[in-house]
Amino acid sequence: MKVKVVTRILEANDRIAEDNRRKFREAGVYVVNLMGAPGAGKTTLLERTIRALKPQIRIGVIEGDIVGSDDAERIGALDVPVVQINTGGACHLDANMINEVLDELPLKELDLLIIENVGNLVCPAEFKVGEDRKMMVLSIAEGHDKPLKYPLMFRESSALVLNKMDLLPYMNTDINKVRNDSLALNPQLKIFEVSCSTGTGIDAWAQWLNGLR
Ligand code: MG
Ligand code: ZN
Repeated sequence: MKVKVVTRILEANDRIAEDNRRKFREAGVYVVNLMGAPGAGKTTLLERTIRALKPQIRIGVIEGDIVGSDDAERIGALDVPVVQINTGGACHLDANMINEVLDELPLKELDLLIIENVGNLVCPAEFKVGEDRKMMVLSIAEGHDKPLKYPLMFRESSALVLNKMDLLPYMNTDINKVRNDSLALNPQLKIFEVSCSTGTGIDAWAQWLNGLR
């Protein structure tokens, strides 16, 4: 019985996600659903990405958090359109939450919309929101066991951004294990090694992202 209910919720979500996708396509905006654990560096990666690409393209952002508007304020300071969604307890964004804020963004004036999901390695991967691609950030401080413990997110993502590479000398994280386990789950996965604090690797990531449109 429980399985049936969950299936229906996901089916309803997928219908709304299709509607969102149609609106994004009509507006000509490419949409990325960015996922990762709390503290992985999603917002900092967004700031770096916006700085790298802003001269070339028009970017908008939807920020998903349980409470608060800190991240939207950080993004808004870069002078790009941003909307904050507070889920009020829900640990992921769903298609309906995105649908409800679409009118608040100038979609037709955007080339790229990045949706920062709620910090969580589990259910954000289960919900489509109408994105073209899902991508994830994993900081190397989270350890090398994450691909095998949270396989769905690695399977669903087109790109894995390995952040905080500058901390590698201080960590016992086996980067080769992260790479190998991730690629075993998802051979198509594109992996970028970056440091959002030093800026290393950001250009390669940002140019690849821009090339997808
Ligand atoms: Mg954030
Ligand atoms: Zn959730």
